[in-house]
Amino acid sequence: MSKFIFKTNQEIELIKQSCLLLSKTHGEVAKFVKEGVSTLLLDKIAKEYILDNGGVPSFLDFNGFPYTLCVSINDQVVHGFPSSYQLRDGDIVSIDCGVVYNGYFSDSAYTYPIGEIKPEIKILLDVTKQCLELAIEKAVVGNRIGDIGFAVQNHAEKAGFGVVRELVGHGVGTKVHEKPEVPNYGKRGSGIRLEEGMVLAIEPMINLGKPAVMFWDDGWTVSTRDKSPSAHYEHTVSIRKGKADVLTSFMHIEEVLNKK
Ligand code: MG
Ligand code: MG
Repeated sequence: MSKFIFKTNQEIELIKQSCLLLSKTHGEVAKFVKEGVSTLLLDKIAKEYILDNGGVPSFLDFNGFPYTLCVSINDQVVHGFPSSYQLRDGDIVSIDCGVVYNGYFSDSAYTYPIGEIKPEIKILLDVTKQCLELAIEKAVVGNRIGDIGFAVQNHAEKAGFGVVRELVGHGVGTKVHEKPEVPNYGKRGSGIRLEEGMVLAIEPMINLGKPAVMFWDDGWTVSTRDKSPSAHYEHTVSIRKGKADVLTSFMHIEEVLNKK
């Protein structure tokens, strides 16, 4: 990871513009997320939308990653490749995307249910999203990185779910990944102090089963060892006093989902 970088308010405003394009891209992709659609089509839609609106997909060619989206289905945790696989009733699919706009980076992910999913998997999605919300509540000046991790771990483990350890959130803004690391586990009051000028990608990755993951030979895909489903939600967040400024939004996704 790169050196730790504080952002000025002017830079945070630029990151916010990147986040807006990213959030709208997610909304565009959401229109096509349904049974029978290939995940490669979703990738094409995201790429075209970003380029048409003056941005650049930030994951594409990052350390050789070959796509605009990370598409992770069922037991895949993160970094799955879009493919000719067509989404099926009962699947869950995490769509993770990043944008560069005017030189500033953003990062956000959302896990969708496809058709009718098992009740325990619905709970996994709800709890993982709640983990993100609880983590964001702790992402304020004066708290520490461990407060964020504790919030995620505590909520997920109370529900009986496994918290992924090998992958973490991160600083974001002038690169895809910056310092500091933002683990989804930790002790309250531990780790570096949160300050204004920090912009973090907070991203709980929670498994229905055990925490352990495995790394595929493709060099990217990560899946659960026990083959249990995994959920992932992510926002780019600016640390502020009292309340974090959430720079990405699920509004565009949820507007689409509410119409379906
Ligand atoms: Mg991401
Ligand atoms: Mg990220």
